[in-house]
Amino acid sequence: MLEISGVDTYYGSIQALHNISLHIGEGEIVTLIGANGAGKTTTLMTICGVVPPHSGSIRFEGKPIHYMPANQVVRLGICQVPEGRLIFPQLTVMENLDLGAYLRKDKAGVAEDLAYIFELFPILAERRNQSGGTLSGGEQQMLAISRALMARPRLLLLDEPSLGLAPIIISQIFEIIKQVNQHGTTIFLVEQNANQALKVADRGYVMENGRITMEDKAENLLANEAVRKAYLGI
Ligand code: ATP
Repeated sequence: MLEISGVDTYYGSIQALHNISLHIGEGEIVTLIGANGAGKTTTLMTICGVVPPHSGSIRFEGKPIHYMPANQVVRLGICQVPEGRLIFPQLTVMENLDLGAYLRKDKAGVAEDLAYIFELFPILAERRNQSGGTLSGGEQQMLAISRALMARPRLLLLDEPSLGLAPIIISQIFEIIKQVNQHGTTIFLVEQNANQALKVADRGYVMENGRITMEDKAENLLANEAVRKAYLGI
């Protein structure tokens, strides 16, 4: 579904990504794990067209997207849930969700997706008229995921969905990620919480200093000595 090949990305003269290659198959959950500053967010920003690559290629369903601006990438069916959630705190839950569907014209489909989201997150249905800023951290993460789902993406990019949340809420969020995937959305999950991410993912990549240093089935990475020492604290 997504094929990144030999991508280099720069911020000015600083190179953040070095010759990145990775692929995501339709229906998969693929995770990218790594320490602070490894280049995980930059990888997502590069896919989305926010920080275009200097060289290399990115193909979505065979179509080159590395020259496209972010708004065109979204139209193709790729949506990102950013780190820190970035919901609109002054707007209500419902208004945040409506914004997710901003580019869509299929009213019946939007209504269907809203019903699905309220089934997935009943708390958002209860709080639909409450402003986003009054929700707890976990609820805001649910809202951020839901807002992205309102665009009906085929590929959902999640940037550190567990960041700053209590362990019980983290488990709920990862459970929801699995359910969203089972409902037909392919997922690329960027996480520092390697343990949880590798438990839900099919495959994983490890990133260090802007380079992919390992790739394997998630279960193999979970059992890998070097990964356990560096990222699982074992
Ligand atoms: P984190 O988990 O802290 O978000 P990350 O793995 O997502 O880390 P990135 O945010 O992609 O890492 O950062 C990769 C490198 O690029 C870091 O050295 C960072 O300082 C640098 N960087 C990120 N954003 C910018 C920017 N806007 N301008 C300049 N350098 C940046």
